[in-house]
Amino acid sequence: MEHGLYIHLPYCRSLCPYCAFAKAALHRAEPERLLAALRREAEMAHPTAAWGRPRTIFFGGGTPTALDPDSLRACLAWVRSAWDLSRVREWTVEANPEGLTDEKLAILREGGVDRLSLGIQSLEPTVLRLLGRIHGPERALDAMAQAQRAGFRTLSVDLMVAVPGETEVGVLAGVAALVDLGVPHLSIYSLQVEPGTPLARKVERGSVLPLDADAAADRYERIGERLAAAGYRHYEVSNWALPGHESRHNEGYWTRRPYLGLGPGAHSFNGAARWRNEEDVTRYFERVESGELPREEVEEVTRETAATEAIFLGLRRARGLRRRYAERLAGAALDGWAEWARSAGAVRLDPPGRIRPTERGLLVSHEISSDLLARSGRLDTPAPGC
Ligand code: SF4
Repeated sequence: MEHGLYIHLPYCRSLCPYCAFAKAALHRAEPERLLAALRREAEMAHPTAAWGRPRTIFFGGGTPTALDPDSLRACLAWVRSAWDLSRVREWTVEANPEGLTDEKLAILREGGVDRLSLGIQSLEPTVLRLLGRIHGPERALDAMAQAQRAGFRTLSVDLMVAVPGETEVGVLAGVAALVDLGVPHLSIYSLQVEPGTPLARKVERGSVLPLDADAAADRYERIGERLAAAGYRHYEVSNWALPGHESRHNEGYWTRRPYLGLGPGAHSFNGAARWRNEEDVTRYFERVESGELPREEVEEVTRETAATEAIFLGLRRARGLRRRYAERLAGAALDGWAEWARSAGAVRLDPPGRIRPTERGLLVSHEISSDLLARSGRLDTPAPGC
């Protein structure tokens, strides 16, 4: 089965107040226990060849590169021995600037990793402070140069926008610095206030005021113009790349290719069902060590859900959907919707037979998909972010 492999390494040097990912503080790290649990989970999860030959691999977190060099080396060696990597076309590891050393970068390259995704978030000191990041702009720039020296031709940088305290000038200067450095891939997200996080409590108390959606959309538009002028393609709602540097692993998510996720909080999809792993790191260990797969929220994907997902995911990408395919998914002709979306400047209907979101359409992708489904009258609308 054509699929991706995702491995979640949950430790972070410091916990950011806006973060809702499964994570644990580095001083509580138990790397040997984590590696043993991942091995055990993998043995339980792929007893058949179905998950045996991934096309893409992604180490996410947490901060995978927070692991000490020996543990990082051991983790890479385990993946190389446990899976047939002969068809792997991309192996990405997430990293943060703090604690990223030449030694760790060399271990990643020697281990077969060819793509690094760096959590820079911003090059404005006030924004980094509000986000609770422990690196400054100088360290961020050094880390990018370090990764390039280590031979990471495909380097991706995560940025966060719509952060209280940011300035348009500062955001655009940051983007310009990344362009000047030749960073070929950017993932740009607007700050979400996730329930239960320290940031959410600050917002509730009124000590932090989030930016409104219009301001966030405005930032995206300005950034998009800057990146388009530099030759980047806005190929998905949150992603820009120079030609040939699009993320293959994420492409799998957007095209509903199956993926196996291992580790605390990891998500999986086998084509017929989706599930999420236990998020709490200690409970994850306990369940795996007692011989239980740590799965939660196993949800069968019905035909209607699959069609809804395919529409939402298809209209998140600049290449869009084939019109006949979209009509089959929606179970209805789309003439009225297509004309409405075209006249609103949200989609292009060329080449004939395709529906492709415009730059503006990518900003309102969820709305245009919701409208399509509402008009077809057949399908439920999922929450934003599907
Ligand atoms: S470094 Fe990343 S995973 Fe870790 S706490 Fe911060 S945002 Fe979350």
